[in-house]
Amino acid sequence: MSETIAAIATASGNGSISILRVSGPEAVCVVDGIFMNDDLSKADSYTIHYGWIGESDDERVDEVLVLLMRAPRSYTAEDVVEIHCHGGGQAAKKILELLIEKGVRLAEPGEFTKRAFLNGRIDLTQAESVMEVIRAKNDLALSTAEEHLRGNIRDEIRALREVVLSDMAYLEAALDDPEHIELDEFPATLGTHLCDISEKIEKLIAGYENGRRIADGIKTVIIGRPNVGKSSFLNCILREDRAIVTNIPGTTRDTLEEDAMVGGIRLRLIDTAGIRQTSDVVETIGVKKAKDAIGDSDFIICVLDSSEELTDEDREVLNMCNLKPSVILLNKSDLSPMITIKDIEKFYSENGIKIADSIHDRSIHMLEFSAETRAGLSELESLLEQLFLSDFYSGNNDRKDPVITSLRQKELLIDAKGSIDRLRETMEAGMPEDLLTVDLLSLYESLGSVTGDAMEDDLVDKIFSDFCMGK
Ligand code: GDP
Repeated sequence: MSETIAAIATASGNGSISILRVSGPEAVCVVDGIFMNDDLSKADSYTIHYGWIGESDDERVDEVLVLLMRAPRSYTAEDVVEIHCHGGGQAAKKILELLIEKGVRLAEPGEFTKRAFLNGRIDLTQAESVMEVIRAKNDLALSTAEEHLRGNIRDEIRALREVVLSDMAYLEAALDDPEHIELDEFPATLGTHLCDISEKIEKLIAGYENGRRIADGIKTVIIGRPNVGKSSFLNCILREDRAIVTNIPGTTRDTLEEDAMVGGIRLRLIDTAGIRQTSDVVETIGVKKAKDAIGDSDFIICVLDSSEELTDEDREVLNMCNLKPSVILLNKSDLSPMITIKDIEKFYSENGIKIADSIHDRSIHMLEFSAETRAGLSELESLLEQLFLSDFYSGNNDRKDPVITSLRQKELLIDAKGSIDRLRETMEAGMPEDLLTVDLLSLYESLGSVTGDAMEDDLVDKIFSDFCMGK
């Protein structure tokens, strides 16, 4: 790790400044060699230096600010120098070329953060959270990522690991020295510890789906027969000042998804390209396809035209709503109503379908709505917040337990849970205690892999290869 690395840390394009990052033992010396003003080699850590980059008066590259952060109190825990030059890319590129000429190596994606991890400044969950912060698309995703960055998952996992370690140590000691160390109480103590650890792990695993939904957005499908106002509803939420509209290629299929922020929640509207073009998902893609789309979704928004009597087609659509958490919008509430919430409740009760009995209940909700006047939009926002955010906060808005958003972490926790189950079986079968050590060790290692405290090098490489340049 003795190489000095550099990269442009800011995104390309026209911006007012670009930032280059240099890290490693030669960082200060190399930048000093191309900085025409102060003597950086003598400068204190955490100082900012104004001047020019260039090798001579005739070859000035750009006017810059240089920030100096000496090891170990820097991002990578090595000597780090940041060069803030003018944006637009060309100046940064020229400076990078100069640095490379001086023997610095171009950093790989994620290499700065990888060094921070390998140098022990952060653990793996914090390292992963760096990209999570960068990718966060709403306040909740951001605050969850920031908590990861502060080490809430690391602290939770390390505390569990400590318990396993002390049990392992006790067991080893007792097996080595049976005359002086008793094992009579050990199974009971270990049993209690495993119970506690298992409960915490299960909570983390269960929270994953919710964490994923908050971070990635809630996969939402809008259903309803033609002319009920689906497109108008879509425009109504996409026209929100707060709405972020992006087209991202679907990850699993080649479909387009559209994002809308409703309240604090990001909705990922599935197949809306199709919905918007044809304005009728049920008729054009067929009931079966609508069902498939529902199968893949987290949430259904069903639109009815409340100014008309219910049709058979409406009833068919209403029947699909019990497949996922859903809200039925009785749209066109600005016109005189032909159907009311009571009518829909009656329909469901006649068909034996359960509807939500509280705002947190993830079954079927109903709201009067008008895509025309936007009546009902704030009720829809609070409903979404209650359905999808309430797990994250207790009443006074304090964050509850840590929430994981990483699939890698979740899978390792499932492994850890498997080790706990095996330990319990071994204990219940009354097997000799030395057999417990194997599963205790594998539990300890799975937990260690979450934080990177026990991690193979190639896995570390794989994790950091997903990072962006300069991070
Ligand atoms: P879709 O086929 O379900 O996408 O329905 P559209 O969004 O195309 O709407 C059908 C018609 O209903 C259009 O003429 C809209 O202007 C009208 N419409 C939609 N929502 C409302 C509403 O809330 N109030 C009123 N009065 N008209 C609406």
